[in-house]
Amino acid sequence: MSRDLPVVPRPAADRPDLLRPTRRSTPSVSIGGVLVGAAHPIVVQSMTNTDTADAVGTAAQVAHLARGGSQIVRITVNHEAAAAAVPEIVQRVADEGLQVPIVGDFHYNGHKLLAAFPEAAAALAKYRINPGNVGTKRRDENFQTIVKIANDNAKPVRIGVNWGSLDQDLLTLLMEENAKAPQPASARAVTMEAIVRSALQSAELAESTGMPHDRILLSAKTSNVRDLIDVYRELGSRCDYPLHLGLTEAGMGMKGIVATTAALANLLNEGIGDTIRVSLTPEPGADRALEVEVAQQILQSLGLRAFAPQVTSCPGCGRTTSVFFQEMAQEIQNYLKAQMPSWRERHPGVESMEVAVMGCVVNGPGESKHANLGISLPGTFEEPVAPVFQDGALLTTLRGERIVAEFTEILERYVEGHYPSR
Ligand code: SF4
Repeated sequence: MSRDLPVVPRPAADRPDLLRPTRRSTPSVSIGGVLVGAAHPIVVQSMTNTDTADAVGTAAQVAHLARGGSQIVRITVNHEAAAAAVPEIVQRVADEGLQVPIVGDFHYNGHKLLAAFPEAAAALAKYRINPGNVGTKRRDENFQTIVKIANDNAKPVRIGVNWGSLDQDLLTLLMEENAKAPQPASARAVTMEAIVRSALQSAELAESTGMPHDRILLSAKTSNVRDLIDVYRELGSRCDYPLHLGLTEAGMGMKGIVATTAALANLLNEGIGDTIRVSLTPEPGADRALEVEVAQQILQSLGLRAFAPQVTSCPGCGRTTSVFFQEMAQEIQNYLKAQMPSWRERHPGVESMEVAVMGCVVNGPGESKHANLGISLPGTFEEPVAPVFQDGALLTTLRGERIVAEFTEILERYVEGHYPSR
């Protein structure tokens, strides 16, 4: 597997001060007006888990995900009732004033559904095709039917290989070839190659069917972090299509978040990946938009995009045994989150603001000086005062019961003064 990928720093379109490494010059693909690839900012997407046939419920979740920051939302289109509901879903979301592109996810019967429901084909912004799930005997024919319908509607396609549904004929063929080789590769290496080749051969078939090069995106997902990294490095070195990244079936809670971050951070840092999704298994009753928040946090932590002000806070230690410090860090974090919807509208650029909430004098003033606004709380046995720093200089010193309230007032004044209203 190649690891020597050319990394060319380019400015991200939304933050000139942030550098986005790109693996090479990829085509720019428009997905319902959202530009993906080339030097465009990396796009966050998500997927609904409602029954698509429930147009009201699905539209509501699409809208919720879009408001949470998902720039593209995928819905499964798995049967006739789901396909029939697509135009209403798209219309309902548009009626809410949201312009989020809605993508159809097809398996097994996409060729039939798209042919039988032309209004759905026209309403969707992109079709996702899994080349391992388009049939066996008529695989190419079914695949080409979807590509032709996409072409007729001027829609892009994502050829999304998933190792859980990998084209078994291709895998068998490569395994047989490998068995005859003088020095057979490992079964893992052959499987990785089959995943990459499935994506590339399918893209070739799409282009030979008439799909323009700049309307194709690829993905090749696995559920294992190391496999995912190796597969995408290889795929990224062998084509210039924009790539959608995601650790499939990442799992639940912390495990899913950490595993996804480990995989995506490695790749994004090498310039591999143009759109991302965090495939978390939601805990019962959990907010589906958590996956969007995690995706945004990955990109912001890597310095690739900015979505919301970041709070730097220390872990606390024996020097600050009071829970006041923890509560304050949380309150500031929550305050920033609550303010962002209105700040985003009125104060462009506020998403790049950095705030520090520190527990004592050891690192507090130093870290606070690096932030736009920083507060250093008094540690145990320290004088009960909290110096506040603004852009590196001491602004004021707070004390008493109203420290949090006064600090949020300072925050508001800073935002008003430094991120002018539109
Ligand atoms: S800044 Fe102070 S309270 Fe926070 S971890 Fe460091 S020494 Fe401990």
